Amino acid sequence: MVELKGNKIVFECEKCGVILRIDADTAPAKGRCPNCGHRIAIPSKQEAQKGRRNRR
Ligand SMILES: [Zn+2]
Repeated sequence: MVELKGNKIVFECEKCGVILRIDADTAPAKGRCPNCGHRIAIPSKQEAQKGRRNRR
């Protein structure tokens, strides 16, 4: 799950499923999930814009 909301990239930790919000200005980047500590790759703004695979 990756979405762009305003200037925030909203995505899901692939390990624990927690929803994370990152400023699009800082992406793409690498970081750690604050919930489980899993290393995560924050998608770029472009990826977030087109990454609507799980559309409801
Ligand atoms: Zn996590």
